[in-house]
Amino acid sequence: MPNIVVLGAGVSGLTCALLLARKGNAVTVVAKHMPGDYDIEYTSPWAGANVLPMSLDKDSRWERRSWPELRRLAAEVPEAGLHVQTARVLRRQVDVSAGLKAIIADGLYQLSPWYKEVMDNFRELPAAELPPGIHSGCEFTSVCINTAVYLPWLQGQCARYGVRFRRAVLKHISEATAMSHHAGGKPADVVVNASGLLACRLGGVMDRTVTPARGQIVLVRNEAEGVMPTTSGCADGDEEIVYVMQRALGGGTVLGGTYMKGSWEPNPDPNMAMRIMRRAVETHPELTGGKGVEGLDIIRHGVGLRPLREGGVRIEKEEIEGTWVVHNYGHAGWGYQGSYGCAERVVELVDEILGTTKQASKL
Ligand code: FAD
Repeated sequence: MPNIVVLGAGVSGLTCALLLARKGNAVTVVAKHMPGDYDIEYTSPWAGANVLPMSLDKDSRWERRSWPELRRLAAEVPEAGLHVQTARVLRRQVDVSAGLKAIIADGLYQLSPWYKEVMDNFRELPAAELPPGIHSGCEFTSVCINTAVYLPWLQGQCARYGVRFRRAVLKHISEATAMSHHAGGKPADVVVNASGLLACRLGGVMDRTVTPARGQIVLVRNEAEGVMPTTSGCADGDEEIVYVMQRALGGGTVLGGTYMKGSWEPNPDPNMAMRIMRRAVETHPELTGGKGVEGLDIIRHGVGLRPLREGGVRIEKEEIEGTWVVHNYGHAGWGYQGSYGCAERVVELVDEILGTTKQASKL
């Protein structure tokens, strides 16, 4: 049985571990942070998270391939913590006039996006449904993931397929080779690197093109009534964004947010929090029944750091100090909505390596 060590227990590492274990590999997950932890170095628990396709058509494989599984989980596996919601995407007049160039999730706001063929019940909004200042918009069926439920569920699924878990902090990726819990300490045949933002500090990888895109949120008890609105920009500045999503299973409603490239600041900024809340009640007055910011019932403030990588996600194989490594990091703001597509590619690359290894040992 091939022996694989996955470095990382965020959504990327856990999804890879699950798919690899389901195929019959002996998998060990090694990580500094595990589901249940909240730490600024561990992005996954801070995500909303929902599915708002962000890629351009040419890079859409990861999101296209993930959607069927996320939709299935929402429909058939209530304990996974996903529920169906309607996404409402609004393109501001000012952003469309500027050619939709300066906005953060460029694929999401395209006038004729690739995902209109993929997401169920896609419709362009008629002019009568558009708020002032909005050029156009669309709606489609999506899901919202309660990450506080989903990550432990994913870990449980891994355990069901025999995945073992170890807490450790690695200085160098090659240390993972000796960390398998299977096969009596036999070295791993393949290491999967799902180290997220910390890929920029991990020996043997040290990817300096990985930087944080800081996301500040406010989690509230108010309900968003099944709709997840998001707007292509906001008047408060280029680093600020507007979105609302209600998590499944009583997980509260996430009000966002920010997208601050290069900022490692772990503490919520109170002024920013006020702007986030003001924008949320302006764009979504139903949240407080028209009572404004004072009608919000705050659970907590939060900050997470999206693992942004110049040039996009890195999913490829590389031999490092005699061990085959498959990288899967740099998912920025779409790690959940692309998780199954990326993990599927990781499995393909692992299979390629194991095929090669078998060939070589036959000679
Ligand atoms: P992480 O979750 O950071 O996991 C990395 C793992 O590697 C951890 O277990 C860590 O301990 C381990 N590790 C790293 N280095 C070492 C080491 N040296 N030794 C041992 N262990 C190590 N995505 C969506 O799809 N939809 C959304 O709506 C969405 N909203 C978001 C909102 C916010 C505010 C934020 C911050 C993010 C959002 N995202 C969203 C993005 C998503 O959260 C990330 O893309 C995703 O969580 C990245 O997961 P990861 O597993 O790659 O990294």
